[in-house]
Parts: sequence; structure tokens; C-alpha cells
Amino acid sequence: MWGAARLAFLLRSVEVLGKNLAHLGHRLVVRSGRSEEVLPRLAAEVRAEAVFANKRYEPYAQARDRKVASALYGQGVGFELSKDAVAWEEREILTQAGNPFTVFTPYSKVWRSRPQPTPVPRLMQAKEPAPEVPSDPLVLDPSVWGHPLRQPLPAAGERAALDLLERFLDGPVFRYDTARDLPAEDGTSSLSPYLRVGSIGIRTVLARLRAVREKADAPGQRGCDVWLTELIWREFYQQVLHNFPHVLKGAFRPEYDAIRWSDDEGHFQAWCTGRTGYPIVDAAMRCLAATGTMPNRARMIVAMFLTKDLMISWQRGERWFMQQLLDGDLAANNGGWQWSAGTGTDAAPYFRIFNPVTQGEKCDPTGAFVRRWVPELAKLPDATIHQPWEEPFFSPARSGYPDRIVIHAEQRPKCLAMFKAVKRGTDA
Ligand SMILES: Cc1cc2nc3c(=O)[nH]c(=O)nc-3n(C[C@H](O)[C@H](O)[C@H](O)COP(=O)(O)OP(=O)(O)OC[C@H]3O[C@@H](n4cnc5c(N)ncnc54)[C@H](O)[C@@H]3O)c2cc1C
Repeated sequence: MWGAARLAFLLRSVEVLGKNLAHLGHRLVVRSGRSEEVLPRLAAEVRAEAVFANKRYEPYAQARDRKVASALYGQGVGFELSKDAVAWEEREILTQAGNPFTVFTPYSKVWRSRPQPTPVPRLMQAKEPAPEVPSDPLVLDPSVWGHPLRQPLPAAGERAALDLLERFLDGPVFRYDTARDLPAEDGTSSLSPYLRVGSIGIRTVLARLRAVREKADAPGQRGCDVWLTELIWREFYQQVLHNFPHVLKGAFRPEYDAIRWSDDEGHFQAWCTGRTGYPIVDAAMRCLAATGTMPNRARMIVAMFLTKDLMISWQRGERWFMQQLLDGDLAANNGGWQWSAGTGTDAAPYFRIFNPVTQGEKCDPTGAFVRRWVPELAKLPDATIHQPWEEPFFSPARSGYPDRIVIHAEQRPKCLAMFKAVKRGTDA
């Protein structure tokens, strides 16, 4: 599922790639259509002996690549896939028994014990002119370039990604372990959309991180290590998706597919539009709508709120995120949602339920994030910004900010009962 903003970002990234290739005397040829038809035709036009591509791990991408391979082999052309998106692939890090890991910590220990991969050499200047074959325009329908975000898209392409990486490694990475949970601070790398579309390679990121970590003092090294852990989470979820593709259709732990989630459409719409009456949830959802992104801690809070307070299925939230996020990634998104709902591999147990008020107070102590995205609350003092109903002079009618659509303290026991009913069913 491609949201309009993510599609626009991808197209801009491809456009920049075309320009970068042209500088080196290469040429990007664009063709529209089904890969298994378009690629063999193009291979015949340029009389290619083999086609080389980078591997992806989503089930739909693997099915597509199998079709491409068989069409190319059918006309005597080779087809070779290379590891690119991750440092370690789905069958490269296994338990001692040779099975895929389902728990993150032991997976990350093995991952860290492996030699670090080095970046592949940069593309050289072309030695001969590119073949003169026709190229389609990058998009046939110009309206696809548009996007619904209120803020401009971030600059696309490799240069933009490298600049972000260097800016991050120049300082913020050393404080990452504390700043990453404060959504009001610009404490993370913002690299996820670039890693997703492949504008920057994971090997480049790891090599630069390694170089910076070596020179850092002890607290700085801690920040670097915590950031590395997040990069490993990314690979963990890629291998989960590949090895357990049923997660795309249901819970990693199938017993949780029996949960009878709420279908309250009004609650779902209030969540999507940032009108739940819980300031940290609403700020995060409005931030997503305006920018196509949301800090990780905020993603966890809104995902827990949807699944535990509103008791709406994580799959509805997962789909909404895929439509909205610039970095929408099947593996990371599914992993994040199942973790938050308590249905996943390394899930937070179902009885761990975030309180949206205390979460807001912890991660946004001055209310700066809420004030940025929920202007109706801008004048509230810090003490009540995360619970406006406690402010004697605050009125939903006058401010235009809604009253709470549910009361957290009442929803918590209901949610626990919902999960327990399913557990009882499977334990019986
Ligand atoms: C409900 C939910 C949905 C999510 N959906 C996505 C998604 O669709 N796409 C996506 O890339 N990430 C997703 N994440 C993970 C995480 O929130 C984002 O990767 C992160 O916020 C991106 O910001 P950043 O680039 O500044 O990350 P940084 O904090 O700088 O981290 C560096 C990189 O590590 C990876 N990463 C960081 N945290 C995680 C994580 N928890 N799981 C997997 N990879 C991680 C990303 O590639 C990120 O760019 C989701 C998390 C949750 C809880």
C-alpha cells in the first residue's frame, strides 16, 4: 500500500538518482508496466546477458522477483539478486538450532558478534556511452507528484541522506539514548525514509557510526550503541517478516487473532484526526498528518492507545500508518504495531498498557510537543497540559479541543478482560 506522500518521496528520490547517474555518464531508463514483462523486453532491447537487482524481503517483492527470474531465464538471460537493504539477511542470523530468532535480545547479541560489513565501492564514471533506448517519463500522471502533507517533503536523494547522517553523527548521536524519547527534541536521525527507499545504504551508515563511536567518550559511546540497537531492530523485523510471513495477515501469536476488537468508527476517526481528547496522542497524530512522520516514542503511545484504550484492531492502525508515513515499511510497521498491541514476537506483554497522561508527562515534560501540534492547548500551564480536564478554567466548548472520548482508568480493566478472555480460551 503506497500513501500519496510516500509515493511522491519515492519518485523524487528516483528523479535525483537519475541526475546522479547522468553526472557519471550513466543513464536511468524508466519503463512502466509489470516487472516480469518490462524487464525481459528491455533486456532484449539492450542485448543484456544478465540482469542484476537488489533483493527485498516483503512477500510481494519476492513473488515479483520469482516471476522476473523465470521470464528472464526463459529467454536465456541471467538474473542475480544481491543483498542490499540489510547487513544480515533472514537466514544469516539463526539460533544454535538453526531456527530464526523470535526474541530480539539474543538476535541482537549474535548480530553484534558478526564482522561489520563494509560499504560497496561507489559507482564509477561510465566507460562507454549508455545504450540509446527509449525511456518513459518518470510518472505518466503528473498529479502523482502532489501530496497531502501540510509541510513540504524533505529533500530527496543520496546527498540529502548523507547530510542528515553527518549532522546526526556530529552531535545528536552522543545524546541519542536520552533524547530519542523526547518528541519535542530533534534527537533522532530522520533517516528512515531514505533507508526505506535505498537512497543511503545500511553499510555506509554502519561504517560511519563505527568511525564516530571509536573517537567518542564513554557517554557518547552509549548513545552510539543505543542507536546501533535501533538499526538492529530494523533488521530483526525484516527477518521476522521473511521467516514468519503470516504476520502480514494476523497476529504473530495466532491465539490473539480470536480477540474481538471494537469497530467503533467514531473512535477510529477521532484517533486518525487527532481529536481523542488526550493531548499527547492528538499531537502525535496531527504531526503525522502534517509531516508524514512521527517520533518513535509517539508511535508507541498512539499504537497502545488505539489497541488498548480504544480496543481497535492493530491492523487498522497498521494500515493507517502505511498510508500516512513517509517511511512506511511493511516489516518495521508490522513489528511496531504487533509489539504495541502485545500480539507480536518480542511483544510487550498485553498487561503492559501505557497511560497516555503519564507518558505525555515523561516524554514531553514542558508540553512543547503538544503546544506545537495542538494550538488549542497552547496557553495551558505545564502542570495540566497533558490532562486539560484538570484545569479549572479550561472548557472544551470555548477552546475547540474535545473532551476525552474514553476514560483511560475505565478502559484499562476492560482491555485486560478482553485479552484474558482470549488467553483463557487458548489455555482451556
Ligand atoms: C507502531 C510503530 C510503527 C512503526 N512503523 C515504522 C515504519 O513503517 N517504518 C520504519 O522505518 N519504522 C517504523 N517504526 C520504527 C521507528 O518508529 C522509526 O524507524 C523511527 O521513528 C524513524 O525515525 P528516525 O529515522 O529518526 O530513527 P532513528 O531513531 O534515528 O533510528 C535509526 C534507524 O533505525 C531504524 N529504526 C529505529 N527504530 C526502529 C524500530 N523500533 N523498529 C525498526 N526499525 C527502527 C530506522 O530505519 C531508523 O531510521 C515504527 C514503530 C512503531 C512503534
